Amino acid sequence: TMDYGPSPEASDHVTAWLEKHSEGFTHFIDGAFVSPENVEFFEVSDPARATPLGCVAQGTTDDVGKAVDAARRAFRTWSKLPGHTRARYLYAIARHIQKRERFLSVLETMDNGKPIRESRDIDIPLVARHFYHHAGWAELIETEFPGHAPVGVCGQIIPWNFPLLMLAWKIAPALAAGNTIVLKPAEFTPLTALAFAEICREVGLPAGVVNIVTGDGRTGAALVEHPGVDKVAFTGSTEVGRLIRQETAGSGKKLSLELGGKSPFIVFDDADLDGAVEGVVDAIWFNQGQVCCAGSRLLVQEGVADRFHSKLKTRMETLRVGSPLDKSVDVGAIVAPVQLDRIRELVEKGKAEGGTMWQASTPMPENGCFFPPTLFTDVEPSSTVAEVEIFGPVAVSMTFRTPEEAIQLANNTRYGLAASIWTENVNLSLDVAARVKAGVVWVNCTNMFDAGAGFGGYRESGFGREGGREGLYEYLAPVWEKGLAKGQPAAKPDLSALP
Ligand code: NAD
Repeated sequence: TMDYGPSPEASDHVTAWLEKHSEGFTHFIDGAFVSPENVEFFEVSDPARATPLGCVAQGTTDDVGKAVDAARRAFRTWSKLPGHTRARYLYAIARHIQKRERFLSVLETMDNGKPIRESRDIDIPLVARHFYHHAGWAELIETEFPGHAPVGVCGQIIPWNFPLLMLAWKIAPALAAGNTIVLKPAEFTPLTALAFAEICREVGLPAGVVNIVTGDGRTGAALVEHPGVDKVAFTGSTEVGRLIRQETAGSGKKLSLELGGKSPFIVFDDADLDGAVEGVVDAIWFNQGQVCCAGSRLLVQEGVADRFHSKLKTRMETLRVGSPLDKSVDVGAIVAPVQLDRIRELVEKGKAEGGTMWQASTPMPENGCFFPPTLFTDVEPSSTVAEVEIFGPVAVSMTFRTPEEAIQLANNTRYGLAASIWTENVNLSLDVAARVKAGVVWVNCTNMFDAGAGFGGYRESGFGREGGREGLYEYLAPVWEKGLAKGQPAAKPDLSALP
């Protein structure tokens, strides 16, 4: 057996599961895992130990086609079920996720590199919470959304930073609203999505309602292009989001995009500085900074800047970097060597452009994909590290004099995903919150997620919301609109003619 660190019981379970699939993981289509014959596989590895975990199928256009066909067939019955019947499946999924919490946490940590403390206390409980919450919405769908119908087959493409949580954000509302799904997980982290497919089977979800096709960007592109897909939901980079918007333009496909960010973290001089320092830890060292809404741009009021940076450095010295399966580790591994190279490159650029770099002297693991917590001060607002999303454990800090200047700096970005404001002055915080262009604004806290609150961006951070009532509109269409799509008069929507 392999040594997976200090979670022996759950690790054995994960080891056995990986061994069971040593011939390779295949797609989950129409309620079954497809045969591994004639399949091209690619390797998935544990970034902390730089060791392979298994082989996963590279989805072809043909695989995507089969999955979309299965989802179309399943849509005919799934979309017609009463909401409270669909709710029972969502409750069952949520319960099964809770039962497998340890297994899923360890698997997620090994596949992604995130600290076990985060996957166990944050990611997986939030996944269960998301399914419970949307089970509730499924029960209410007819009364709360009269005149709305499910959109149809949803093609969903997700990133690697919160693999199972992003799956839950996509799948739970889609199912609650009566849609069927073809989901493509990220190529670095497809394993928990495949474990989720097993859960779908265990709870008896009708075949074809959820299909998982693995692969890289080519598989994602095939899914976006497929004419049988009615809605595309994407979370990932702004570059790929742009391609998907071009591809779907004029196709009539409904689209939502959750993209990158460079979120401001504003510290006013009356803030509780110790609290704000803990906030920075959660903002930029949570999940190694691989968080779309990470508070990566610190804006600190001039009078307290030196004191704040010095407190922050003291705290950084206490962050433990190491094996993500170790419960006392704060900062785990970067997801893959290519991401590590990108972080290193941007940090070099930050130094070359005149920023002052500071790194904690915390010991670093010798092998695996790790990068130390890093702080840049004396950063010019126009420098690369102040503008570009680093997607790593790197904070850049700038100073401001007045609230007006703070708002100006905060909005000086092509993104608009999130913001965090630290002050003891409630009036100031509410005034600034209203003027910062961001989809989510936190006051005296950061990176708080809840299934009941809509999440999403402005500008190059994308559009559409996930979570809460507003998130459900992404998976529903007014009945008259669906009537039009079917070539029927808008004035007389015919419910029975829906697919
Ligand atoms: P990525 O855009 O390269 O990949 C995301 C997903 O898209 C993967 O599943 C990938 O296989 C797929 N993909 C790649 N090319 C494609 C194409 N041409 N057509 C269709 N699908 C394609 O991004 P990444 O490197 O996996 O993730 C990091 C980025 O995602 C960061 O920029 C981050 O800000 C962003 N992100 C945003 C949110 C959010 O909620 N807004 C959440 C997580 C990550």
